[in-house]
Amino acid sequence: MCGEQFSTVKEWDLKILRAPPLGVFQHVTVKFMQLRGYCDNCDRTAVADVDWIHPKFSSMTCGLAEVAGRLMEEITCEAVGRILDMGSKAMWDLDQYRMAVMMQHLRMPDGLDVSYLAADEVHFRTIAVKNRVGLFAKRWRPEFVTNLVAPKEGKSYLTP
Ligand SMILES: [Zn+2]
Repeated sequence: MCGEQFSTVKEWDLKILRAPPLGVFQHVTVKFMQLRGYCDNCDRTAVADVDWIHPKFSSMTCGLAEVAGRLMEEITCEAVGRILDMGSKAMWDLDQYRMAVMMQHLRMPDGLDVSYLAADEVHFRTIAVKNRVGLFAKRWRPEFVTNLVAPKEGKSYLTP
């Protein structure tokens, strides 16, 4: 899609999306009317771009994917599914997707079998925060490193 303004409205499509918990409301559903319109520039009908709907998991907001993803860094997919009232398989798929995205930013040693990896985050150091803004701003910021273990190789590597 080129991003130009639509010349005519084709239809308003109802999208039902899961959103992250909001205060006392644990199960939050967003009903959103998404615009389909005609683009003169592309000479075709297109759906209006919505940047807060997850690009891969189109039934959830990016906010929910982020909350679930952060939780899955600490606890199991099964537990996150139960907390967020979502299927554990969907959580597993989301976690695998996040890992694949993060993997693009990691540089692995050549010739290492990474077909099976185990990961854990360990405390690296705590540094003083410079240029604190506000009375309640944190004075110290902990930094972590992700410890990846390649069990098939029997070696451990640290990545920042
Ligand atoms: Zn267009």
